[in-house]
Amino acid sequence: MENLKNIIAKKSEKYYVITLIAVLLIIATLISSNGRVLWPVIPTFIAMCGILIFVTSLQTAFLLYNQSKLTRDSSVALLASGYLAVSFLALARIILFPGLFLSSNVLDDNNQIAAWLWVITHVAFPFFLILYATNHCKKMFFSYGYARWSFRLIPIAVVLLVLSLVYYESALPSLVDKGNYSSTSYLDFFLLAFTAVPLFLLMTKKEMTNRQDLWLMLAITVQCLDIFYEIIGETRYSMGWYLGMISSIVSSSIILGVFIYHILCIAQLKDEEGHYFKDISETDPLTGVANRRKLDLVFNTLWELSLNQQQPLCLIMIDIDHFKIYNDSYGHLEGDKCLIKVADALSKIPKRSTDIVARIGGEEFVILLYGVDHDIGFQVAEEVRKEIENLHISHSTFYNSWLTVSIGYTSHIVKPSSKKEKFLYIVDQALYKSKAEGRNRVEGVSLSI
Ligand code: GH3
Ligand code: MG
Ligand code: MG
Repeated sequence: MENLKNIIAKKSEKYYVITLIAVLLIIATLISSNGRVLWPVIPTFIAMCGILIFVTSLQTAFLLYNQSKLTRDSSVALLASGYLAVSFLALARIILFPGLFLSSNVLDDNNQIAAWLWVITHVAFPFFLILYATNHCKKMFFSYGYARWSFRLIPIAVVLLVLSLVYYESALPSLVDKGNYSSTSYLDFFLLAFTAVPLFLLMTKKEMTNRQDLWLMLAITVQCLDIFYEIIGETRYSMGWYLGMISSIVSSSIILGVFIYHILCIAQLKDEEGHYFKDISETDPLTGVANRRKLDLVFNTLWELSLNQQQPLCLIMIDIDHFKIYNDSYGHLEGDKCLIKVADALSKIPKRSTDIVARIGGEEFVILLYGVDHDIGFQVAEEVRKEIENLHISHSTFYNSWLTVSIGYTSHIVKPSSKKEKFLYIVDQALYKSKAEGRNRVEGVSLSI
């Protein structure tokens, strides 16, 4: 998959992101004075958010890491490490959040671990973003090998960190007092400033903004808003607290959303490419009708259908009369135009979706009709013959002044003992007879097997 970093963001995309950032900042400013308003208490909200952040960040980390493996891009591996750290820290936070999964007799209700994990998350993510942004600018001072190891070591680092937090819980400086965060605002301001550093680095980058950086800027802005809302919320279950949680989810999902969009675009492109190549591989380039390859495919399918449904399969073979003389008289280019006219006329004959017109040789065409018996086959073949004659394409031979065709056909209900080769052979024989008996005529042969 193409590296998201290598896709230059469209102008409209840039305007979209800038507008979104502006709208989010305006909303944050407008509601900043109401941040402390208490909203209904939803005890499971933190768990829902934690699980969402864990899942979306893990998926983003996985996609980024695999992308870095394909392109050996250390900055992307560092970004993946950042998302992986967010993911595991979110998981640890919901596990250790007071009274959520662990009851108060394991960890007391006012333990500081969850709050410290929140702080560590808001240090770790910008830290990796700074590494991503600087590594990106300064042409990979962090080798891919180191970046890959940083990703692999994240789970171990998080486990060790959580164990030490649990072990030293009583010694941790207090950040939260019975759900009140007001005493931490100095720390929050530091986190806000620290998170703004990668945003500044990405914004001031000299290179043209790529898609990944553009959307990362939005993700970092939302991350800053997350901290801002925590500052104005002050207590759990306040409006600011809820909006901070929602911002965390949004921030962790943005790059995942861009990835999904990118993957869908690639899938659509591949689909269109597939259809295009399938179409050109099954179409006669001169006349636009099916080619021999397509005919073989449809023939095999209809043969099986006839065997199963016991409906007749009719093959009409058409050959332009004295076409060599036509070419010799009017030139090869006119000959080509004539073939196109004949193919167009033949294309109007079939009625059902299973019917097919194909050009199988220079001036030889075939019409394959399912569910058409010998008598109707004759009527269709006669219609074809008259249709071509009525095109009134000048062709001054010794016996006719218009271009004509000779036709051989057969219709057969396929039996287990029927042979495709025999079926094709007898149509060829019918066409041969039609030529031998004077051309511009239809000859039918029954297949007696
Ligand atoms: P008959 O009535 O017995 O079928 O005579 P014929 O001249 O049509 O048959 P023959 O097989 O001798 O010649 C077929 C001619 O078709 C030879 C060639 O010049 C022409 N032809 C084959 N493919 C093309 C093509 O793609 N474009 C053009 N313009 N002519 C073609
Ligand atoms: Mg021929
Ligand atoms: Mg011919």
